[in-house]
Amino acid sequence: MLSRDAGGLRRGGNCICPKCGYTASHRRGVPCRDERCPKCDVVMLREGSYHYQQLEKHRSENKD
Ligand SMILES: [Zn+2]
Ligand SMILES: [Zn+2]
Repeated sequence: MLSRDAGGLRRGGNCICPKCGYTASHRRGVPCRDERCPKCDVVMLREGSYHYQQLEKHRSENKD
């Protein structure tokens, strides 16, 4: 039986740099915050995570 993918929460598997937007494939068992952007040397976020969404929200609010 195929696993049921309800969509939504479990999509993607990337870590993303909150600073430059660089993405890297998330490594299983390695927390995103233990990964660093090779360009900025800042900790990465899980793409689509709560923190990432907060960041996106913050960005759109400051866009003007
Ligand atoms: Zn970066
Ligand atoms: Zn990750």
